[in-house]
Amino acid sequence: MRISSKLLAAGGLVAALAAFFLALPEPGDRQGAATGGAFAIRGARVFDGEQVLPKATVLVRDGRIEAVGRNLEIPAGVAIIEAAGRTLLPGLIDSHVHAWGSALVDALNFGVTTTLGMFGDPAMLRELKPHRESLAPVAFADHFSSGWLATVPGGHGTQFGLPVPTLTTPAEAAPWVEARLAEGSDYIKIVYEPKGAGGLGPPFPSLDAPTMQALIEATKARSRPAVVHISRLEPARTALEAGADGLVHVFADRPIDEAFLALAVGRGAFVTPTLAVTASIAGEGEGAALALDPRVAPFLSPDQQRTLTQVVQHRLAFLNPAVGLDATRRLAAAGVDILAGSDAPNPGTAQGVSLHHELAMLVRAGLTPVEALVAATSAPARRFGLQERGRIAPGMRADLLLVAGDPTTDIGATLDIERIWKNGAPVERRRYTPTTP
Ligand SMILES: [Zn+2]
Repeated sequence: MRISSKLLAAGGLVAALAAFFLALPEPGDRQGAATGGAFAIRGARVFDGEQVLPKATVLVRDGRIEAVGRNLEIPAGVAIIEAAGRTLLPGLIDSHVHAWGSALVDALNFGVTTTLGMFGDPAMLRELKPHRESLAPVAFADHFSSGWLATVPGGHGTQFGLPVPTLTTPAEAAPWVEARLAEGSDYIKIVYEPKGAGGLGPPFPSLDAPTMQALIEATKARSRPAVVHISRLEPARTALEAGADGLVHVFADRPIDEAFLALAVGRGAFVTPTLAVTASIAGEGEGAALALDPRVAPFLSPDQQRTLTQVVQHRLAFLNPAVGLDATRRLAAAGVDILAGSDAPNPGTAQGVSLHHELAMLVRAGLTPVEALVAATSAPARRFGLQERGRIAPGMRADLLLVAGDPTTDIGATLDIERIWKNGAPVERRRYTPTTP
């Protein structure tokens, strides 16, 4: 919802991003290099992005998944990784991040292989696009993004001192969308926080409903997803009535009603609830406790350590996390697509690790562990048109996460990370000296 102004205000940061990514180290020896780039992961429980295969073998060749099967024959000379008792998952997709600094390295360190930016500087998109289209080894997560967000002068998103291009009227909507697509935006994010709509909201001016609708129509005319930031029920209703493809938060001001459920189902909308950050901004965050988890602490970069333990300065009292949990449960039960998003690096969250937290929050809301895993794999890939991602199936990019235990019944096991692969290459997890006393 809000973004650390400290992170954003670093003016030189944006300019430095291109050099930063080009300077990233390449991974060392590629696994299977001696066997034609092929290896097999044998005997794991496989969550394929949609369902659980109790025991299967996955064959990877040249960065892609070649075959999946219970009794798959492994070609001679192919390296074998024995994985009985463990669970193999698609690399996770975080559907709501803000990528600055070491964000994409930090995300990959926790098995998040694809990130969806919901406001960031478009300059980095040009640097990152070739990487996400390539199967060459990389040491950071792939990134898709809205680039800038649509807001009015002085509106939410402008408080960080970045040159956000703003608009105020429906007539400006189509040119604004065209300018974003020309910059490389993959989809369009719109901020809709009108005053006087079911309770006191953030103290910002907002786009009006006709301008929001014109933005959505211009985006859909270009066959791209149009997503809307809301925090309250009535603006969320207006956004769906205006044709939004999805909401990138769930409202947490007042209880969901039958009319909203019917609207969301009828429009085929998706919702990215961002429950962990809502709890944090409401003053009920769990980031500091998570930072002490022995499966987490050694792998936190300085940025992650700082943002995960950060306490919000001005908590938003109109947000009631229990209302957001209940809305999420009822939306999921009605068949609305739920996507897992962390909104990192807002206070109380951190890249990568907070997506695991969000999965636990989705289960707390009432999703099954498998439904939560779908929300971080195949569902975002389908809703954002991400090719070759979010599933373990022949032809898919070999972005993989191997964990001990069984997150399909105990969602907390996603943090028991044993191995990560990006584009079929093993990721050497970075360990940092824990800075907690
Ligand atoms: Zn956000």
